[in-house]
Amino acid sequence: MSDFDVDFFVIGAGSGGVRAARIAANHGARVIVAEEYRVGGTCVIRGCVPKKLLVYASRFADDFEDAAGYGWTVQNPVFNWQTLIANKDLEIDRLERAYIANLERSKVKIVRSRAVLEDAHRVRLVATGEIVRAKHILIATGGWPSHGADIAGLEHVISSNEAFHLKELPKRILIQGGGYIAVEFAGIFRGLGSEVTLVYRGDNILRGFDDDVREHLRGEMEKRGIRVVTRKIVEAVEKVDHGLCVSLSDHETITVDQVMFATGRRPNVSGLGLEHAGVQLNAMGAIKVDKYSRTSVPHIYAVGDVTDRVNLTPVAIREGHAVADNLFDGKDIVVDHSDIPTAVFSEPEVGVIGLTEAQARQDYARVDIYKSSFRAMKMTLAGRDTRCFFKLVVDGETDRVLGCHIVGPDAGEMIQLVGIAIKMNATKADFDRVMAVHPTAAEELVTMRTKAATYVREAAE
Ligand code: NDP
Repeated sequence: MSDFDVDFFVIGAGSGGVRAARIAANHGARVIVAEEYRVGGTCVIRGCVPKKLLVYASRFADDFEDAAGYGWTVQNPVFNWQTLIANKDLEIDRLERAYIANLERSKVKIVRSRAVLEDAHRVRLVATGEIVRAKHILIATGGWPSHGADIAGLEHVISSNEAFHLKELPKRILIQGGGYIAVEFAGIFRGLGSEVTLVYRGDNILRGFDDDVREHLRGEMEKRGIRVVTRKIVEAVEKVDHGLCVSLSDHETITVDQVMFATGRRPNVSGLGLEHAGVQLNAMGAIKVDKYSRTSVPHIYAVGDVTDRVNLTPVAIREGHAVADNLFDGKDIVVDHSDIPTAVFSEPEVGVIGLTEAQARQDYARVDIYKSSFRAMKMTLAGRDTRCFFKLVVDGETDRVLGCHIVGPDAGEMIQLVGIAIKMNATKADFDRVMAVHPTAAEELVTMRTKAATYVREAAE
């Protein structure tokens, strides 16, 4: 008889955990997945999926306005926040049921409990006190919003978690942060009619993205009426009669109905008993793993945001899948974390893959830049003042396309396809050989012929 109750114990039923559990069970492993909240994790329950539904909702406002230029009369469209939230909740319920059904179909046992490591092989289910002896363990507990320093009035501040369940659409909202979540929610609330102020501590939003993308997106957000305040932080939030009074670091005060912080997320490691099992953290407080997602304890693995590598759902899914295949199907898969396409569902949308211009100029001797900014055809009759932006970063010596950066409608859809070409090491000449699809915005990818700039790195002394 086995010394273990299960072959694979997964802590956390989010994107990475669910995938790993299901694949492991399909390979014949006895699997338990423990989840203290809802099955689906951040992405399904309070992240990517509900966010995208809210993004869709927010974009109708423009559509109604733009329709006029195309001859439509759309009289006084009225938005109802409660209807949107109720419908979104129904969809999330449906998805959670689908996740549960898929796990059950694969014969994964789902345990509704917090799970804590007692030692390197024993896991305690907090709900029942039961101890489960597991041969292999996977930690896939994700991340949690981090609000930064403990300022006065922090109890009045919400994160994106609460934004999905607000009773009412705020008339005025202040969002602190300049990353994915901050710019996405700024677009959502603005589209739905809120007055939005975005406060960011640095020079410009979306640090780490290509500078042209950051500049272009900021300009477009400002054109939409979002007030972008940079080089400032929120120092205090005070409840006043008619809302919340926010004090910024330059002593400006702004009164709003809601304050949301989107100031990053921390790996969810506290209270997991990692120290009892000997699982080590890295300097950033994330679980330290090797290229196989193996922790400092060889039979304990960790995937997804809790490892703080590339905090994106598809990455967690790949990592979880690889762990299951390697452990229970004799594979030797190392997840490739290079050139990952990603989208920011801001308004307008951003889609990027590969190197920014700044990164390329640092790493490559000669870099060619192609870029284009134009008004999409649909905006002409609509009369909307918004522009798309496309940029290709090319290795001037080999002609390989190192990076692609798009701002505009459907940028997320486009970058997924560009990603295939980039992973195949496509050159600029390969892009140019492709016939344009006309009239589209995407045709810009294959019609940018004139270099905007060439940078030659100076030889080191
Ligand atoms: P990000 O790391 O993207 O952004 C955090 C922002 O908060 C940065 O602008 C950062 O500034 C700022 N910040 C951090 N600490 C403080 C502080 N103490 N005071 C003021 N500002 C601060 O995190 P998000 O919360 O936006 O998103 C978390 C992760 O979730 C993302 O990294 C992404 O991987 C994932 N995500 C992906 C999405 C997608 O794929 N579309 C959508 C949403 C989330 P600075 O730049 O100066 O560090």
